[in-house]
Amino acid sequence: MANTRAYAATSPTSGMAPYSFDRRALRPDDVAIEIDYCGVCHSDLHTVENDWGGSQYPVVPGHEIIGRVTAVGQDVTRYQPGDLVGVGCMVDSCRTCSACDSGLEQYCIEGSTMTYGSLDRHDGTVTHGGYSENIVVSDRFVVRVPENLDPASAAPLLCAGITTYSPLKHFKVGKGHKVGVLGMGGLGHMGVKLAKAMGAEVTIFTRSESKVAEAKKQGADHVIISTDKAQMKAAADSFDFLLDTIPVAHDLNPYLKCLKYDGTHILVGLLTPVEPALQAGLLVTKRRVVAGSLIGGMPETQEMLDFCAEHNITCDVEMLDIRNINEAYERLKKSDVKYRFVIDMDTLKQ
Ligand code: NDP
Ligand code: ZN
Repeated sequence: MANTRAYAATSPTSGMAPYSFDRRALRPDDVAIEIDYCGVCHSDLHTVENDWGGSQYPVVPGHEIIGRVTAVGQDVTRYQPGDLVGVGCMVDSCRTCSACDSGLEQYCIEGSTMTYGSLDRHDGTVTHGGYSENIVVSDRFVVRVPENLDPASAAPLLCAGITTYSPLKHFKVGKGHKVGVLGMGGLGHMGVKLAKAMGAEVTIFTRSESKVAEAKKQGADHVIISTDKAQMKAAADSFDFLLDTIPVAHDLNPYLKCLKYDGTHILVGLLTPVEPALQAGLLVTKRRVVAGSLIGGMPETQEMLDFCAEHNITCDVEMLDIRNINEAYERLKKSDVKYRFVIDMDTLKQ
């Protein structure tokens, strides 16, 4: 599939610009998808600016992809042209290790192949993501999007949705639990909607006074301004779980104090060292746990989409013309988006 139009960054400081490349010809298990919508995740920005190190340039980001199947390889039976499908953060894994066997491909022992910036395990080329016209992905890493979900506002479910759904399910969050969500951005606002749908009492921790009314609209029962020491102190020993979506190094200690004994602080946003250091006493004296969680496996991603369809849950999105992607990144840095930019891929073709 030659000459796929896309947007790419060529260095950490280049900004995003038009780019084109060739998608591979279909392998027997491949699905070709024409992309309609792609969400803009903070991970795209971390990768473009090489915040985590090791970014491969040019990088075509995008891992919240929804589109229609245009062709399938000879062995594909689950999908056919015209189907509405999604692709998230992974496009491959070893498929044979114990993690893959359990449908936890994100924890593949050999490391999963990410949708962009990874080396394809078969031909060694660098993978390119969803800020592009089309994508070719093995059917195991494609999910079916329920037709009753609005596809533009469902696109961010492929990352923001599954990343918050998976730990909530893993830790069996439900009725009777008090859950705090740290940071009200793309992941955070989905964390609120999903934890509420699972029956929990939900509190948003935000730095932004301006988001208080919004948080309530999202379904949050309470809001705590995390920069207000008195409000943080009043929340001591009260939460069963904290879902931490903050994208930068931050002090976990004031949040740990908000957990009950046996409470769990789940990191999803922080992939860099914790600074300042954890006060071990806060863990030891209350048997508190700090945990982490990475996206979700393929069966769970399908389960999450079906759960969202059943509960009528989608993301709050701001549609984006791809030509304005650099401006969108600047706004994302300032947490100035309600709550996810989604690229309308038609704008790539204009
Ligand atoms: P957003 O930028 O949309 O949201 C992050 C929110 O965190 C902001 O809205 C803001 O909320 C809060 N925040 C931002 N900066 C600070 C700061 N300096 N101090 C305190 N709070 C801050 O990002 P996403 O939701 O897209 O992603 C969040 C993180 O999760 C990113 O690091 C991303 O890479 C990571 N991620 C992890 C995944 C995983 O599998 N574990 C998968 C996907 C993403 P407020 O204004 O309310 O304070
Ligand atoms: Zn993401």
